[in-house]
Amino acid sequence: MNSPNQIQAEELLSVLFYSPNATAVYKDEDIRILNANEAMLKFWGKDMKIIGKDFRSALPELEEQPFFEILRNVWLSGETFTAKDYPAVLLTNGVPEKFYFDFEYKAILGNDGKTKYILHTASEVTERKKALKIVEEKSRSEQKLINDLSALNEEYLATNEDLISKHEELFTANSELLKIKKELLKANHTLSQSENRFKILVEKSPVAMASLLGEHFEVDIVNDKALQIWNKDRSVVGMPLSEALPELKDQPFIDILKEVYATGKPYYGKELKTMIEKDGELIECYLNFVYQPIFDEHQATASILVVATDVTEQVQARESISEIKNRLEIALDAGRLGSTEINLSTGTMESTNQFKHNYGYRTEDEFTYLDLYESILPEHRRRIKDLVKESIKKNEVYRAEYPVKWKDGSIHWIQAHGRARFNKDGIADRMVGMNADITDKKLAEQRKDDFLSVASHELKTPLTAVRASIQLLNRIKEKPYSQTHIRLIEQSDKGIEKMCVLIDDLLNMSRLGQDQLKLEYQTFNLHEMLEKSCHHIRVEGKNKLILKGEESLEMYADEHRIEQVVINLVNNAVKYAKGSNEIHIFTETDCDHVKVSVRDFGQGIPEAVIPHLFDRYYRAEHGGKSYSGLGLGLYICLEIVKKHSGKIGVNSKIGEGSTFWFTIPKKKADEALLAIG
Ligand code: ADP
Repeated sequence: MNSPNQIQAEELLSVLFYSPNATAVYKDEDIRILNANEAMLKFWGKDMKIIGKDFRSALPELEEQPFFEILRNVWLSGETFTAKDYPAVLLTNGVPEKFYFDFEYKAILGNDGKTKYILHTASEVTERKKALKIVEEKSRSEQKLINDLSALNEEYLATNEDLISKHEELFTANSELLKIKKELLKANHTLSQSENRFKILVEKSPVAMASLLGEHFEVDIVNDKALQIWNKDRSVVGMPLSEALPELKDQPFIDILKEVYATGKPYYGKELKTMIEKDGELIECYLNFVYQPIFDEHQATASILVVATDVTEQVQARESISEIKNRLEIALDAGRLGSTEINLSTGTMESTNQFKHNYGYRTEDEFTYLDLYESILPEHRRRIKDLVKESIKKNEVYRAEYPVKWKDGSIHWIQAHGRARFNKDGIADRMVGMNADITDKKLAEQRKDDFLSVASHELKTPLTAVRASIQLLNRIKEKPYSQTHIRLIEQSDKGIEKMCVLIDDLLNMSRLGQDQLKLEYQTFNLHEMLEKSCHHIRVEGKNKLILKGEESLEMYADEHRIEQVVINLVNNAVKYAKGSNEIHIFTETDCDHVKVSVRDFGQGIPEAVIPHLFDRYYRAEHGGKSYSGLGLGLYICLEIVKKHSGKIGVNSKIGEGSTFWFTIPKKKADEALLAIG
């Protein structure tokens, strides 16, 4: 290529002048514009007038811009300056506008090496610059987008990482959960196993069991035994207890459950009475039970386990035992029976008070087996000892009756029973015994024995007389009628009469003993009856019989029995009041009763004897005088009067005589009752 120095400046200028590129040529230090082509002038917005002018004055608008300085520097240094996309503010129609240029300030050097010209070539690159700018901007926005995206991406990545770590965490958590789940499942299994076991335990339990849930005590689990006690079926499951068993309303159980629920303390009930409804009726039963609170994980009561046993039979058995014991005590008391337990090896005795009393000992006295033995009359001791020995040997009950002497010297009869008790080795170590004071019974027996001997004697006496008379009559039966005949016949008649009276008494007594005395009520005239019944006395003529009272008096009673009473009283007056010539019979009446009294004027009866006169077999002493009789007459009178709901008694004064009396209600007792009703 040709060097510019080899080209003539003018030639070059003319070449450049026609160049489509903007071109200008400068010279000197003040950068005078030697030439500028059309294109350059267009850029500058100038015309040819500026040729020959220095740069600064030709283009004052570029003053503030670095071009002049650069040109000057090129001039002075001889170094070409090349710029690309360089901005320059130029006036377009007088308005400053920014353009971009690629330009070169080429120093064209002379032969001396100094700058001869500066060739300025420039091409506008504003469009390109703009495009570039757009591209740049685009690229910038793309970059931004890229940046944003990358930020997003980073975020995404970060998030992703987070997610991954979360995922990992989740994974770990999940596996933990899985573990827990497994454990839970296991625990649940164990729990359900233990729950099952619990259920089975409850159901198979030989005692009644129920689990009551929550504060309303809902029946959760209940076994058949409990249902049996409650008298309910399985429909009660799930019900609150107060609904399941409404009869508990006025009973203490719900309150006790509430207390257990609130305090968490178990409750033990012993033999508590419970009323349970059965077929519409409340039945009594007794229960031993425990209310055991079951706690949840917060230690609060979740449910209450009820375990109960029905002890009704035991309680009732015990009650009936104590009832029997009570009755036994009453019986022992009523029968005045004493009981004792003797320790055979030590001789000590534990006796009831009655047992001691029966031997004449007081409650506070000590009473040993030796005391007992020594109180037995000596002649009976051997026999009793042998009986006891024998009963132990044969393990049988021994029974004995024996007389004992009390400390006050009185004799009493004891009836004793006893039986040995054996220890586990089969040795008799104790003796359990009972006793009773049978003195009265013995006396009665004695009286009965005495009575039999009296009765036989009393019957035998007239019988002997009759027998003797009959024998005599027999001897003289061939002989004609004589005074002896009359006497003997009369004698026999008397004897037979006596025997009849005695036999009548005996028969009456026997009837009374069998309660066979039946009354035949009727209304009769009392005076007429008395006249008739005492006729025999008047006939005999030994005693004067005086009858006093209203003659028309009527009586409603068994006439025959009342007559029997009167005859008895009059006969006694004749028999026991020998010195009494007169016998008075009075009849009286008030609104309710008729009273009959028989008065004699004999010796009278001692006061001490009076209470016994109406006893069976009782016969009083009469100073060695003997009177025939069985001691039954007054007893029979008493029974007849009692049967009529009347009263009988005696008033007597020694030396003045006695008045025996009886009263009979005017109407029969039950008729009187009817009248009142
Ligand atoms: P008995 O049938 O043997 O005569 P009672 O029962 O009639 O017996 O009389 C009982 C006793 O009452 C008699 O033994 C007698 O001592 C006494 N006694 C009954 N009546 C009289 C009387 N009028 N005067 C005195 N003693 C009498």
